[in-house]
Amino acid sequence: MSAQKKPSVSKPTAKKPKKSSGAGNFQAVKGMPDVIPRDEAWWKAILEAGRSVAELHDFHYLETPILESAELFEAGVGAATDVVEKQMFTFRTKGGDRVALRPEGTAPVMRAYLEHHLGYFASPLKAYYEGPMFRYERPQSGRERQFHQWGFEIIGDGDPVYDAEIILATMALFRAVNVPTPALKVNSIGCKVCRPSYREKLKNYYRSREKELCKDCARRLEKNPFRLLDCAEKDCVALRAEAPIILDYLCQSCNAHFKSVLELVEDNGVPYEPDPYLVRGLDYYNRTVFEVWSPAAPHALAGGGRYDYLGEILAGRPIPAVGSAVGIERVIAVLKAAGVSPAHHPRARVFFVAVGEQAKRASLKRMGELRAAGIPVVEALGKRSLKGQLKAADKAKAPLALIFGQKEAFEGSIIVRDMATGAQETALLANFVDTVKQRLRKTNGRA
Ligand code: AMP
Repeated sequence: MSAQKKPSVSKPTAKKPKKSSGAGNFQAVKGMPDVIPRDEAWWKAILEAGRSVAELHDFHYLETPILESAELFEAGVGAATDVVEKQMFTFRTKGGDRVALRPEGTAPVMRAYLEHHLGYFASPLKAYYEGPMFRYERPQSGRERQFHQWGFEIIGDGDPVYDAEIILATMALFRAVNVPTPALKVNSIGCKVCRPSYREKLKNYYRSREKELCKDCARRLEKNPFRLLDCAEKDCVALRAEAPIILDYLCQSCNAHFKSVLELVEDNGVPYEPDPYLVRGLDYYNRTVFEVWSPAAPHALAGGGRYDYLGEILAGRPIPAVGSAVGIERVIAVLKAAGVSPAHHPRARVFFVAVGEQAKRASLKRMGELRAAGIPVVEALGKRSLKGQLKAADKAKAPLALIFGQKEAFEGSIIVRDMATGAQETALLANFVDTVKQRLRKTNGRA
């Protein structure tokens, strides 16, 4: 090969680029935060608690797409609701379909129930879901444009026992992750028989005080007078004190239903507070509605209720159903504020250290043997030195480090190091997995 002349490097004439903070040129879209590994234990704790509660109550996993036809929500959730009127991310696909990023999970679950005739397979269907929801809100603490919900739904039976089960499962989730003092608020918003007369009474009352209403409520008065009851504006809160309450207008059947739900919840040791102003913001609710609050948060942690009319709206026939949705980010915020540590206990891990080319080449196979035995393995094989890898082992807080060097690779052995005491022993590769298991049991006992 002929020796090539080294290309001469000319000094750069352009200005040096400004030193960046290392954050790159792009940021997440406003109100749509990333979930990063720092919060992993919280997310795992909630998702695991949700799955465990779901299994104990026989709820089954149901996942619907993030995009649905915009009409599903306009019809199902209600065109005059805040969620649909102000907060939906709606757009046209290249094919011209009007779609929306789902703002909530209940209408999609009912759509799937109908589309797949799920009522034939389970009556009632008990389903759970989890995933991101999208609402174009003004971002602030506890109110994002993308957030995650855990949802429970029971579709196909109107018995109050199922309203109670949804409430109990929701509260069990809060208990499982140690939310301090979650407060359950419950109300009934009646049915098609009793609600119209209450609606009229409510309208008449607010019409007589129209001048005192906030701008939003003045607009909502004719279309959606129930929302006036949960307006947070000072004047509207004051007006509410003299407003008629639905409990005085419930028909006999709604009254009996509500009484049964409350008795069942109480029988199961869950305290509740009746809240006659709780109406929920979505059109499909009837009878039982509830929310769960924490004294440490300005917003509800969960909400739900019965929605017997959604089936009628989507399929022309009433399908009794009840459900709840828990806001995962809000639960994490409350747990953090209360100083509760995540109720997720990862399995004890080992840190694998390999020094030298030969050992490194064989290390993936050795780590594979540990993983096949159910032992999580952490490594920092990109670092060459023993010192660098042991430092990483310390940082990873693994109770054991396995050290595999040239000598060990040659002899067919591996060093097992107890990271707390520094004690080391040599195990044969032929049975090192058993040795590691025994040592891990010991270190767990010490913890
Ligand atoms: P909703 O059906 O609107 O009451 O929502 C149920 C639960 O989802 C609420 O109780 C919150 O915990 C959560 N949630 C609703 N909207 C948001 C939001 N914009 N940001 C964060 N969490 C939310």
